[in-house]
Order: sequence, then C-alpha cells, then structure tokens
Amino acid sequence: MRFLLALITAAGLLLTVQQSGAASLPSEPVHTGQVETNGGPRPDARNVVLAVHGGAGNGLIRKDTPPELEKAYRDGLAAALRAGEQVLRSGGSSVTAVEAAVKVLEDNELFNAGKGAVFTEDAGHELDASIMRGSDLAAGAVAGVQSVKNPISAARLVMEKSPHVLLAGEGADDFAARNGLPTVTQDYYWTQRRWDQLTAAKDPQAPKQAEYSTVGAVAVDQKRDLAAATSTGGLTNKMIGRVGDSPVIGAGTYAKNDTAAVSATGQGEVFIRGAAASTISNMIEFGRRSLADAAFDVIVKRLPALGGTGGVIALDRQGTFDAPHSTPGMLHGYLTADGKIVTKVFVDETPANS
Ligand code: ASP
Repeated sequence: MRFLLALITAAGLLLTVQQSGAASLPSEPVHTGQVETNGGPRPDARNVVLAVHGGAGNGLIRKDTPPELEKAYRDGLAAALRAGEQVLRSGGSSVTAVEAAVKVLEDNELFNAGKGAVFTEDAGHELDASIMRGSDLAAGAVAGVQSVKNPISAARLVMEKSPHVLLAGEGADDFAARNGLPTVTQDYYWTQRRWDQLTAAKDPQAPKQAEYSTVGAVAVDQKRDLAAATSTGGLTNKMIGRVGDSPVIGAGTYAKNDTAAVSATGQGEVFIRGAAASTISNMIEFGRRSLADAAFDVIVKRLPALGGTGGVIALDRQGTFDAPHSTPGMLHGYLTADGKIVTKVFVDETPANS
C-alpha cells in the first residue's frame, strides 16, 4: 500500500516538476517556535527556497484551457523562479531574489503587474508594489506609479535609498527616474486582454469575474534571511487614486525572519482591513500557530468573513511553504532546495480552502 502511494505521488509530481541545478538552503534546522497542530492544515511543501504567485481567482479549468495557454502560464512562473534561483545559487540575498522573480512577472503581460497591468476607470494604469526584508523589517513600497517600468525595483529603492517606507504618485515616479530606473509611457502597459476586461467591467450586462492576477514572491537565502515582494496593477476599473493592499506593509506583504514571508493576492480592501499578512505573522509569533494553520485561518476563515476572497504564498526560514486561497484557484509555483520547480495553474492542482 505504501509503495502504491509512493508511486502515485511520484507520478503526480512528474506532471509538474522540472529539474534544474541545485539551489542552496542551509542544512542546519532553525527553530521558530511554531507548533504543528495535529489534524490542522498541513503545509503544501517543505524545503522550499523560493515561491511565486500569479494571482488568485477563478483559475484555469483543465478541459477548457488550450495547451499553449497552460504552457505560457507555467513557463512564466518557471522563468520567474529561475531568475530568483540564479540569485540564490550565487549567494545573493532573498531581497534580490524576490525582486528578480517579480521583475520577470512584471515584464510578462499575462500577469497584472508592470506590462499587462489592469486599467483604472479612466483607462489609465496606476501600479502598486512593495518589498520587505525579514532580518530587520526594512520595507519599501510605491503606490499609484504611472511611468516606472518595474515598480518592484522602485519599491526596493524606497527601502534602500530613502528615509521612507511608502512613496505615492508623481513623487514615487520621479524618485525612481532620478535614481536611474527605466521609465515608460502609459501605452507600454496596454494589452488587448486588459482592455477587454475594462470594457466588460463597464458593461452592466457582462458577467463579473473575480480575477486577481497580481504577482508576488517569497524567498529564503543562504543566510536564512526571508524576504517578500508583491506587485500589481490593482483592480480593473478601480477609482483613480485607489490603493490596494499590495503596497501596504502588513496587508499585502510582510516578512519577518522569526515567523514568515508572505505575499498576498485578492480583494485588497479586505486584505487591508484584516491586516492579512501581518496577522499571519502575529499568529505564528504570539499565538504559536504553525505557518499552515495561521495562513489558513486568515485566508480561508477571517477574510471571507469580512467579505473578501484571495490567497497568499507563505514561507518560513525552514523552507515550510503553504499557499492557501479562498478563490477557486491561485496560480503559483515553487523551487525546492534541490532545484526542483513545481508550477500549479489548474484549479484541480490547487484545491481551494485547503
Ligand atoms: N490585491 C490586489 C488589489 O486589491 C489585486 C490582486 O490581488 O490582483 O489591488
């Protein structure tokens, strides 16, 4: 029986696993004080060094998805993981790894961040991003930027080169440009797909869908320092000036070495009201809950009770990884210490509420 189970597990893994070179994760276990609750939610994976998400939402249905689209999503997630892996393998920091991974997703028009960001109500683009370092709680964020090509790099710049945590609007765009980050005009972000979504959002007859294709990454480096990053165009047809959870430290992003690195996606207003990412961290630290238990509690119980759905990727220093979500699907992928990449894009690969 055990052999049969092992065979089934191995066959399942083969479907989604791509082998690559080894990434480094220190072998000494670190004790975080978390308690694994018997019978409670279990983490999705262990020995993870880097994970990314491409948003929560209705997800892809296997039978309705053309193979090219499945491939494009899996390749997009895998390319982001490979970019971060390169950083980690060469001894780079988790901050550099999550920035590198998110940049790749920002440059990929399939995702709602950077190129391919959704439209505001006046058919413009206002982008939000944040990044946080788990070793000292340093953080940086930008909100409502309109010309920086890679908002995640602007967020890092705010963290490292300004005395502030969050810069918004023109000031943030100017700061990024003055510090040499590439800038673009608004048409750079334009895609037909997002335009169609705006048109549908404005049509009272059209069916409304909860699709959150924000991107994010969490990582642990060779020093076992955690980092988290999140980047988004926000919500389709959002009011001008609306800021979601993604650039709000403690809501869309949080990283603390003693607890977890967390990046969120979902109904931003509810993630802000529920202080989603920092509540997960606080439950681990003060409630001594396990990572999977805390993340499940916040995402599957507390936030839906406030009226919002979504998900998170969460990683601790030991490489414990979980990706709970209350939406039917959440696109995500992870890299383990031995260099395996797993991507999950179909709803049947990522059961909700688990
Ligand atoms: N959380 C994002 C926001 O509300 C949306 C998303 O996750 O796609 O801005």
